[in-house]
Amino acid sequence: MKSYREEIWFNTKTRRAYINISDQVQKIIDQSGIKEGLCLVNAMHITASVYINDDEDGLLQDYDDWLEKLAPHEPISKYRHNNTGEDNADAHLKRQIMGREVVVAITNGKLDFGPWEQIFYGEFDGRRRKRVLVKVMGE
Ligand code: ZN
Repeated sequence: MKSYREEIWFNTKTRRAYINISDQVQKIIDQSGIKEGLCLVNAMHITASVYINDDEDGLLQDYDDWLEKLAPHEPISKYRHNNTGEDNADAHLKRQIMGREVVVAITNGKLDFGPWEQIFYGEFDGRRRKRVLVKVMGE
């Protein structure tokens, strides 16, 4: 069995962002030379997510509205975590809902997606350098 590891770095201009990283993940699989196996993609920060869903503007805005309803960024003072001097309690909670990682099968060297599936990086506390781990395993 072979394995291959690479990181994807981000520095979003906005606090929250939803970025389709499917093409970047596929390029890493191409680089690995692995044709049959599994690909793990995980956020390496506790205020960001990796998840799979449709790439559609309306849906991305729906996610953002929904997450802001569940865990609004403001008022910052409503969260005990922010008593530490941080302002990102909402980002921790948003990350929990949207998840840490995805695992996708690799078949014939390609991500073996279901209909409309795409891999997203969900940023909830951006405007700084953050990264995603891509680990490819197989042969
Ligand atoms: Zn925090």
